[in-house]
Amino acid sequence: MRIIFKTVGIISICITVIAALIAMFQNPVIALIGGFLGFVNGALMFVVGGLMERVNDLEANMTSVQRPSPGRRMACERCGKLYGVGQSKCPYCGNDTSVDLP
Ligand SMILES: [Zn+2]
Repeated sequence: MRIIFKTVGIISICITVIAALIAMFQNPVIALIGGFLGFVNGALMFVVGGLMERVNDLEANMTSVQRPSPGRRMACERCGKLYGVGQSKCPYCGNDTSVDLP
């Protein structure tokens, strides 16, 4: 996701520069304005990509500390309740055949 933003930013700068060069032959003023706006847009995308990178890193740190990933759970075939994969039987009804959740 964050890489997409930076890539899109770079690509949009490249396209803008090329388009501005082509348009230069026909209308230099519009080419300059369009080129400038496109360049700013691409630069903003690049900056946003960098910011998202930082936010993602912060979130990754926070979630890894606060919420360790829960273990896999299975649904009991008979009563439908969820229990941990480590348990061989359903703690609710004692059924020992169970189905993996999708
Ligand atoms: Zn059960």
